[in-house]
Amino acid sequence: MAIKWAPLLWILLAICLSGGAHAGALTVAPDLQPTSLTSHLRLLEDTSGQLAFEQLQTPEYRAQLQPWTRSSANFGFSRSAYWAAFSLRNPGDRPLPLVIRQDYLLIDHLDFWAQDDGGRWQKLSTGDRLPFDSRGLALRDFVFPVTLPAQSERTYYLRYATQGSLNIGLSVSSETAFLPRLSLEQLLLGIYYGGFLVLVIYNLFLFLAVRDKAYVYYMGYALSYGFYFSIHNGISFQFLWPGNPWLANESLVILLGLSTIFGTQFAREVCAGPQLAPRTDWVARTLMYSMVPLTLAAPFFEYRPMILIFAGITLALCVVLLALGTISLLRGSISARYFMVAWVALLSSVIVYLLKAFGLLPHNDLTHNAFQVGALVEMVLLSLALGARVSEIQKRGYTDELSRLYNRRHFDEQLPREFNFAARSGTPLSLLVLDLDHFKSINDRYGHRRGDQAIHAVGQLIQRKVRKPVLACRYGGEEFAILLPRTSGEQAAVLAERLVLRVAELELDGMSLTTSIGVASFEGGNFGAAVQLFEAADAALYRAKQEGRNRVVVCCPIAKTESSVESVGESEAISP
Ligand code: GH3
Ligand code: MG
Ligand code: MG
Repeated sequence: MAIKWAPLLWILLAICLSGGAHAGALTVAPDLQPTSLTSHLRLLEDTSGQLAFEQLQTPEYRAQLQPWTRSSANFGFSRSAYWAAFSLRNPGDRPLPLVIRQDYLLIDHLDFWAQDDGGRWQKLSTGDRLPFDSRGLALRDFVFPVTLPAQSERTYYLRYATQGSLNIGLSVSSETAFLPRLSLEQLLLGIYYGGFLVLVIYNLFLFLAVRDKAYVYYMGYALSYGFYFSIHNGISFQFLWPGNPWLANESLVILLGLSTIFGTQFAREVCAGPQLAPRTDWVARTLMYSMVPLTLAAPFFEYRPMILIFAGITLALCVVLLALGTISLLRGSISARYFMVAWVALLSSVIVYLLKAFGLLPHNDLTHNAFQVGALVEMVLLSLALGARVSEIQKRGYTDELSRLYNRRHFDEQLPREFNFAARSGTPLSLLVLDLDHFKSINDRYGHRRGDQAIHAVGQLIQRKVRKPVLACRYGGEEFAILLPRTSGEQAAVLAERLVLRVAELELDGMSLTTSIGVASFEGGNFGAAVQLFEAADAALYRAKQEGRNRVVVCCPIAKTESSVESVGESEAISP
């Protein structure tokens, strides 16, 4: 039995020993790359917040500094002050310039103690409740340069006190390794915020062109989100308001509120919430309105309860907006698809970030920045959602609701365009004009609603029978026009005959329907302008009606110099 257990005991012992060994001094070298200090930390929670550095130097308190064994040191919201100590050893023969860095920046008060050459303790007090120039080095995060004498071991102390969540993210590197790393980080941050800026400017121009309020919400969302991260990264405090610690602290809650408000408005707009999902939209709108007074009031209340309320509402909104996007997607909105992809991208990055925060994923550059990168990816995808929305709206403006074909506006725009293209490229262009026969009597006999159904059915038929790059539209009440680029008169006539047959065959619950079609083709420069082509097709239609309906009449003049447009006419009738 004892033998069976022995290996396990050894493993346990090894784990305990390695844990203990870790809390010891970290040996540093001239080329030391940024190395986390978390596993070398000794920590003490001072619940009173009153403990002084001198007291900590007494053996009684020093013994209370406990080695930290977990992979990350996050303490959430805490009223305690936290003391951290770690030791560095320089076995080399030269003094070593080192850089100690705290990468989580939203810390109200951060004090740092190191011994000078004479062994006296020197304190540096900084934190984001103090003006920016309290920092030892004017950098966005807390960086403490120290020099470790040759062949020596030194202990450093830090005291953390903050209203927000506390994250001890300490690392050390040699000065020579730190500088290149710093320049790389600056480059990446430049790219990151450059991305945000480009998105905002790009969408600003689109807004000026389209004047759709969704763009305003988007820009508000992107700007507040971008600023929110610039505060997390320490960029705004460094460059925008270095003398204003109040703003540095309060702006975070305000921006969180603004991004929630704009984000919700954007989502409602892009997913067409009021139209496609009115009840879910109502919930989203109510939550959004509750955010407005809270955001305005936030700077005047204590940070801790405010940020907790904000977090609660934001979480609820996440669920509601996901539901809104899903409903809108299921009801056929294209822009909701992009919206959902963007949301899933953001949410997965948040999940990665949270898993890291709870220590379930390792703390590395990827997990640490996942949320931030996810936010930019989200912004790009949302910008695509906006584009999709605009093309959806445009399509709606060019579509006829009843027949689902294009409307006359689109046809009137496209006809001269296609005509000019055909004239320039020397390709034929054909035009079919359809008019349903005796439609007044259909309405009289079966009612207007059944008449509408017949128009819808013919629209569907045309959609099925004529494919891109053909343009089919409902030109008027029961009149349709079909434009056939690169199609000769002969080919157009064949299609027209087929259509006449198919319309007659339509199953319409006992209604029988027929149509007459006029065909005209632009070939070899026989027309001078698009309007002449249309008039020729219309004239052919008139003749088809005169000749007894339910038939095709093709009308093609030979050349544009001919004075009589109707001089050459080939007519074909399809008997029922
Ligand atoms: P013809 O064979 O000469 O074309 O006879 P028609 O009765 O179809 O005459 P015309 O084309 O001049 O009249 C079109 C009729 O179509 C007038 C109107 O009652 C009906 N109509 C027009 N638009 C609509 C619509 O949107 N829905 C319905 N149900 N009927 C329409
Ligand atoms: Mg008509
Ligand atoms: Mg008619």
